[in-house]
Amino acid sequence: MFPSAREKSVQCWICGKSASSGEHKLKASDLRALFSNVSQQRPLFLHTQAKRNLRIGSIKSSQALKSRALLCHDCNTSLTAPYDRAWEKLSKHLRSARGLRKGSIVKISKIYPGCTKQGMLNVHLYFVKIFGCAIQEQEIPIDIGPFQQAILKGVAHPNLQIAIGVNKSMATGNSDLELASLNGKPAFATWFYVAGSIAVNVMYAEPNERRQGLIGSWHPSTISKRLALLEY
Ligand SMILES: [Zn+2]
Repeated sequence: MFPSAREKSVQCWICGKSASSGEHKLKASDLRALFSNVSQQRPLFLHTQAKRNLRIGSIKSSQALKSRALLCHDCNTSLTAPYDRAWEKLSKHLRSARGLRKGSIVKISKIYPGCTKQGMLNVHLYFVKIFGCAIQEQEIPIDIGPFQQAILKGVAHPNLQIAIGVNKSMATGNSDLELASLNGKPAFATWFYVAGSIAVNVMYAEPNERRQGLIGSWHPSTISKRLALLEY
């Protein structure tokens, strides 16, 4: 670990309080659904750009699966638990659905009965959290302020768009983030959260951005009762 990362890890990047734990980059429930019974005797092997065949003996406690951007206990539990649970529900629903393909329609009201708007806002906020961890950990030059505010206030990040699709081509994990700048300022950033057959394209886009990846994406202000799947 580099000294700068260690210094930064003292405080929770969301609220500034004393931090204690790192967030799983890929949700532990997604990993457990894909790789059952991981143990020291039956390890998983993680490949990153820096290292190959990193031995994972526990999904719950392996530091290699977690972000180095740390959170305090409150932010990691009570504050963001509803966001985590919302993604868990959608992820589970998509994983168990049969025959999903490009253009398939997911009825959100079945996943969050009576609270579709809140459910999808919470999914959005889950990815705001994971995106914020990546910004902090990798020192990506995107303003972290709106990410903090969205999570603390439970409101949408105005520049964060999400597209969800069937995964045909990518390995499970978090892809590297690609960032495009305009006049020296971040204009568009894109990365993928891949869990088996499901891929989530998480994008940061300034209002005037017209990018291919944004086609078919959604924001809590635009989503209604149906989610149309893409394909990656
Ligand atoms: Zn905190």
